Amino acid sequence: MQKGTIGVTTENIFPVIKKFLYSDHEIFLRELVSNAVDATQKMRTLASFGEFKGELGELNVKVTIDKKAGTLTVSDHGIGMTAEDIDKYINQIAFSGAEEFLAKYKDNANAIIGHFGLGFYSAFMVAKKVVINSLSYKEGAEPVRWECDGSPEYEMSKGDRTTRGTDIILYIDDDNKEFLDQARIDTLLKKYCRFLPVPVISGKEQEWKDGKMVDTDRDKVINNTEPQWTKKPSELTDKDYLDFYHELYPGQEDPLFWIHLNVDYPFTLTGILFFPKIKNNFEITKNRIQLYSNQVFVTDSVEGVVPEFMMLLQGVIDSPDIPLNVSRSYLQSDTAVKKISTYITKKVASRLEDIFKADRAEFEKKWDDIKIFIEYGMLTDDKFRDAAMKFVLLKDTEGRYFTLDEYKTLVEASQTDKDGNIVYLYTTDPVAQFNYIKAATDRGYDVLLMDGQLDSHFVGMLESKLDKTTFVRVDSDVIDNLIRKDGRKDVDLSALQRNILTTVFKSQTLEVDKAQFLVSFEALSDKSQPIVITQNEYMRRMKDMAALQPGMSFYGELPDSYSLVVNTEHPLIVKIKDAASAALDNQVKPLADKIEADNAEITKIRDAAKGKALSAEDDQKVKDLEKAVGEARDNETKIISDYAKTQPLVKQLIDLALLGNGLLKGEALSSFIDRSISLL
Ligand code: ADP
Repeated sequence: MQKGTIGVTTENIFPVIKKFLYSDHEIFLRELVSNAVDATQKMRTLASFGEFKGELGELNVKVTIDKKAGTLTVSDHGIGMTAEDIDKYINQIAFSGAEEFLAKYKDNANAIIGHFGLGFYSAFMVAKKVVINSLSYKEGAEPVRWECDGSPEYEMSKGDRTTRGTDIILYIDDDNKEFLDQARIDTLLKKYCRFLPVPVISGKEQEWKDGKMVDTDRDKVINNTEPQWTKKPSELTDKDYLDFYHELYPGQEDPLFWIHLNVDYPFTLTGILFFPKIKNNFEITKNRIQLYSNQVFVTDSVEGVVPEFMMLLQGVIDSPDIPLNVSRSYLQSDTAVKKISTYITKKVASRLEDIFKADRAEFEKKWDDIKIFIEYGMLTDDKFRDAAMKFVLLKDTEGRYFTLDEYKTLVEASQTDKDGNIVYLYTTDPVAQFNYIKAATDRGYDVLLMDGQLDSHFVGMLESKLDKTTFVRVDSDVIDNLIRKDGRKDVDLSALQRNILTTVFKSQTLEVDKAQFLVSFEALSDKSQPIVITQNEYMRRMKDMAALQPGMSFYGELPDSYSLVVNTEHPLIVKIKDAASAALDNQVKPLADKIEADNAEITKIRDAAKGKALSAEDDQKVKDLEKAVGEARDNETKIISDYAKTQPLVKQLIDLALLGNGLLKGEALSSFIDRSISLL
């Protein structure tokens, strides 16, 4: 019998493991089963190279619980270990700076275990005693038994194992009794070992008999040893992919399509990514892609490991270059992982391009569903954006799809303004903005549908990338102003008429929820509507963004500001203008003249002072004049407003325009209806 002290430099490693590694205890099972699988794989390799000539026998890994004895055993038929092997691989744990490291990472068992290669020793997180019973495959090897009770002392003696392989027997300690529960163990094996390449057996299959579930004599294999991603794409049918998808994500709708990743240079990586159907509500569902390392589950928290926009995808990525035992922060900074992330981005983009090229109709059919993914990718990942510029589609209000180049060709001739900018018109709500869309399409313009959740950002991104191209929402101005062309008619109003009409309309525009209206005049065609209400593109975008980004709440607080655009060419407006002139010119003209004269006087006094302080006398004069101007203005406003009140047509036209924008509500709406009836 050999007695010795395990070769760690720290005085007593086991209490440390136990004490500090209080989280993630469950990973001991992954570690032990992985070791057993590795030993089995090595056996296969030796046999395939002809270095082992005997019977391989049945190669599997068995996890057995003995509740009475309080043990959990992981057994394999792998290469086994000789006493020398145990000495070398188990007894000599070499590490330095251990205490410091342990203190730093005490909450993260994965990091510690990974750092020290303490895979096997993680057994001591849950066991008060661990026994190894092993028989090496080597010719003439002696069975060996190793035992350790969690102190740095171990005992090694001749073992009693008669067949090749290893048993690791854990005497589960009192705090960890849960690991003697078959259901708990099955759950863990399903989580970590679901796709391991060697069959993992955990207890027996059960069946329903005489009113209860009983064990059969068939072993319960918990894993699928040949998951689809390990096969060649050419060997797989669509059904295989769909079956695998449903195995991974039971109860979900079929995915839209998938990408089979398969690289062996400059790193090894396999995997299958699925594009799920994303429901209306935009949310990043976390933990969808699972990372594996040689079929061993590593994590399903892939933030920072795959590009952010990939979080919308599902599936598996398997690479031996993904370190198994590290924390996520370590994973994120790992250079191999970074390369993998870049590679996946490239691959996903080129696969999308292939699908687009191979079957445009199919791609278009799926576009509405994948749009959010592609836009998200283009907004958050420059490389993906550059690649996606080739296949990103724009959809117009007629349901037609265009690539960026195609769309440019479509609208370039008709929608280029007098400054040479191509103006892309878009709508965010084809029902609410129907009037504006119609005004645009009547002109022969095309209107894009941008009703997605990311579209406001997406529009901004495209604007910055496309040459001489601007996007304007179709209701942000009257159509002639959205795309300004040469040869437009000027507004034909005298200053007095403008003054009167402004107050006529402004005085009849009631306050609507926190909204501001500015009256302006345009000489639109006489076929255009008499009054059009528009919302400034810039302000609206700012407010849209504010709604998504907390930091911009300043814009969110601003009132909605609308323009009430009066079409001076429309016969009804001409009628209102002429009637107002006839009724008001004589009264308003003297007031307007006085205001003008008084203002001119104020300017003169100020100019004479040349920026210096006014004398007391001048100061009083200015104050008196300002007061007179104010009074004249009030007077003028009152006269015009009183008149406007007697003109139901004014109010009617404004209300019609508000109605067209869904801004007429409640009391204002019901008085509109009453007025309409009495006008009829
Ligand atoms: P790692 O697996 O990271 O090398 P471990 O502490 O888990 O670290 O295991 C140390 C070594 O012990 C392994 O590399 C292997 O050589 C040996 N070993 C562990 N478990 C087994 C087993 N079931 N069969 C054969 N060898 C094993």
